[in-house]
Amino acid sequence: MAVLSQKSMDTQKVMQMDADYVMHTFNRQPVVLTHGKGMRVWDSEGREYLDFLAGIAVNGLGHAHPKLVAAISEQASKLMHVSNLYYIPGQPALAKKLVELSGLGKAFFCNSGAEANEAAIKLARKWGKEAGKFEIITALGSFHGRTMGAVTATGQPKYHDGFKPMVPGFSYVPYNDISALDAAVTDATCAIMLEPIQGESGVHPAQPEYLSHIRKLCDERGILLILDEVQTGLARTGKWFGFQHYGIKPDIMTLAKTLGGGFPIGACLATDSVASAFVPGNHASTFGGNPLACAAAIATLEVIEDEDLVENAAKTGAYFQKSLRALGDRSGDIADVRGFGLMVGVELTRNDAPAIAAECLKRGLIINPIGQNIIRFLPPLIATETDVDNAVRILSAVLLETAYIE
Ligand code: PLP
Repeated sequence: MAVLSQKSMDTQKVMQMDADYVMHTFNRQPVVLTHGKGMRVWDSEGREYLDFLAGIAVNGLGHAHPKLVAAISEQASKLMHVSNLYYIPGQPALAKKLVELSGLGKAFFCNSGAEANEAAIKLARKWGKEAGKFEIITALGSFHGRTMGAVTATGQPKYHDGFKPMVPGFSYVPYNDISALDAAVTDATCAIMLEPIQGESGVHPAQPEYLSHIRKLCDERGILLILDEVQTGLARTGKWFGFQHYGIKPDIMTLAKTLGGGFPIGACLATDSVASAFVPGNHASTFGGNPLACAAAIATLEVIEDEDLVENAAKTGAYFQKSLRALGDRSGDIADVRGFGLMVGVELTRNDAPAIAAECLKRGLIINPIGQNIIRFLPPLIATETDVDNAVRILSAVLLETAYIE
C-alpha cells in the first residue's frame, strides 16, 4: 500500500484492478508503462526510463519503430487473420527469409517460444517414431517455456513443482558437461535440446567444444540437435543466430521474442528431411503465422537488415561488456561479465540483485535481476554507445551509493 499511495489515482486503479481480476502469476514491478519511442519508455506518472530489457529480448527494434508500426497498421487494415486452411502469402515469404538466413529447410509458425518448442518436441518425436526413438535430453538450468512439454523440457525443478506428473521421456544433464551427456544418450534418444546461451538462468554461454562434440555425437548416433534460439536468435548475440558463433548447425531451431518486434509470433525451423516427418494433421495452430503476425515479422527482419542491427548488436555489445568490466574494476561489485552481443549477464559479488534492479528502476533504468546475484541486460538491438554510457552511469551510481547490508 505504501507504493500505491505515492501514485496517481489512474495508476492506483490499474494496480488494484490487476490484483482484483488478473490471475496472480507475476510479481509485477510497481510501474504502469504506457508508451515508448526507441530506447525509451514512459509510465503513467510521466516518468521516463531507458529500456535495457526490451520486454525480455522482444522489442528488438526498440519501441514504436515507424516501419514496424506502418507494416502492422497497413496489414491490419487489409486482413488480420485468415485460417491456415487457406494460403497466407506472408508465411512463405517469411519462411524463405528465415531459411536463407539460417540454412535450414522449412518453417512452421506459431505464437510464442513455448509453442515453437512444443512444435520442435513433437517434430523430433514424429521423426524418431519409426526407429523407436522418443527420449529428449535437455540441460539443467535451461528454460524452454511454460506449456507442459516445454516446461518438462525446462531443466529446473522449481518449474516442475506442483505440476507433476511431467511429460514422460525427458532426461536432464548438467550444461557444458560432455561426459554427463555422453552417458545420458540411449538407443531411444531422438533429440538433444539446448539453448546455445542459457538466458533465464543467468546468461551462460555453451563452451565451443561442448556444442561441437554434441553435433558430432548427434551425427554419429542418429540424434537430432534442437537449438532453442527463442532468446538468442535474430541478431541478439551479434550474429543472426547464436549457433553461428560455434560453427555448427542444428537440425531444428526455435524462434520467437524478437521475431515479431513485439507482435506475438514463434517459429520452428528444421532441415527439409526432418521437416518432412510432419504431414497434414500432425500439428497446427489457429493463429500461427496469420497475416498480421507475418507482416510484423517481415518488417522486423527488414529493419534488422536495413539498419545493420546484427553488426550493431556485436559492436555495441562489445562496448557494453567493456564498460561493465571497467565498472567492476572501479566498484569491486562485479565478479563476472558474460554473454554475446546485446545479451549480457553480470554476476555480482553481492547478493542484492533485486534491490539493485529496483533502485535502477527508480532512477529510470530497466534491467532484470536473476536470483540474488545476477543482472541480465537485453536492450533493444538499436542501442548506441551513448545509451550504454547512460545505463552504466545509473548502474554505477546505484552500486556505489547502495551498500549491501546482509
Ligand atoms: N525459450 C527460451 C530460451 C526463452 O528464453 C523463453 C522465454 O523466456 C521461452 C523459450 C518461452 O517463450 P514464451 O514465453 O514466448 O513462451
